[in-house]
Formats: sequence, C-alpha cells, structure tokens
Amino acid sequence: MAGFLDARPRVGYFYTGKDSNQLIKEEVNRKIVKDYKAPPIIIKESSSVYDAICTLFLEDVGTLFVLNGKGHLAGVVSRKDLLRAALGKQNLEDMPVSIIMTRMPNIITCMPDDSLLDAAKKLIDYQIDSLPVVRPTVEAGKTAYEVVGRVTKTTITRGFVELGNEIHV
Ligand code: ADP
Repeated sequence: MAGFLDARPRVGYFYTGKDSNQLIKEEVNRKIVKDYKAPPIIIKESSSVYDAICTLFLEDVGTLFVLNGKGHLAGVVSRKDLLRAALGKQNLEDMPVSIIMTRMPNIITCMPDDSLLDAAKKLIDYQIDSLPVVRPTVEAGKTAYEVVGRVTKTTITRGFVELGNEIHV
C-alpha cells in the first residue's frame, strides 16, 4: 500500500526501488485540477463595478471572472482592482468592469487535466490568488475559452491538507 513493494504473478513481492521522496512526489502529481476545482463566479463585461462589488460579497469570493457577450473569458477582476476603482470619484454604477479588469490575453489560466501542483506554481509565479479553469473553443475563427471552474489558494490548501492525511510512508 505504501508503494515500497509491488507484486507480480509467479514472482511474488518485490522492492519497487522507490524511496519515500519519489512516492510523495507521485502522490502530489496525482492530484488533478478537475477533482478539486470550485465553481467559477462570473459576471458580464457590461456589469458595473458596483454590481461586481455586490457579487464579491454575496458569493464570498475574492476574484470574479468576466465573460464577453459570447460567454467566453474576457478578463479577471480582483478585490484590489475593485478597491482601487472605489477610491476614485466616479459613480461606480456607471463604470463597467471591463475598464478596470485585467483582460485577455494576459489572463493566466489552467486546464481541467493539469496537475494541482502546476496550478499552484502559477499562483506563486504570477503572484495571484486565483486561476480560471478553462476549456478552449473557437470564436470567430480564433481560440476563445469557456470557464469551467476556479482554482484558488483555498483549493490548493485543501489538496495539501488531504495529502497530509493520506501519506503514511
Ligand atoms: P488581489 O488584487 O485581491 O490582491 P490578486 O493578487 O489575485 O488579488 O490580483 C492582483 C492583480 O492580478 C489584479 O490586478 C488582478 O486583476 C490580476 N489577476 C488576478 N488573477 C489573475 C489571473 N488569473 N491572470 C491574470 N491576472 C490576474
């Protein structure tokens, strides 16, 4: 069960040659985004900054994914983006999120079959809190992305805690 031994018919048990580091690495890489992702919280590009702030509170999240008219990923708006907009003097109900969001093609994403470890590395490397989980599709002859989930620091923490409870080597 720990992975140190394996069994083969007519051979019996044998030592796999794997040390505990290798076994832990295999266990970590077995954790896949699609098994851990949370539902995405999305808003339309035409929504106001005011509506985005309300959605952030109602849904209890830190980041919203913004979709274009075709329902594909257009941008990301975070807590700090919204705070920055709220510091200005403009009317938040008249300001569309599309003018304050980080927009495509600068969005860092991951795919359902990526490892949770690779997603976690992106969060660290790009110093962001959340990644949209996407599936590529085609829009007007160009690649566009459907948003099918989200990976956040909480998602990674959940995977880490599970790992700690699973490993017995
Ligand atoms: P916060 O702004 O609440 O600290 P983040 O650290 O995630 O949250 O966001 C920092 C900046 O990075 C924001 O301007 C946000 O729009 C942008 N951002 C957040 N997530 C992504 C992402 N997946 N890809 C590209 N930019 C992102």
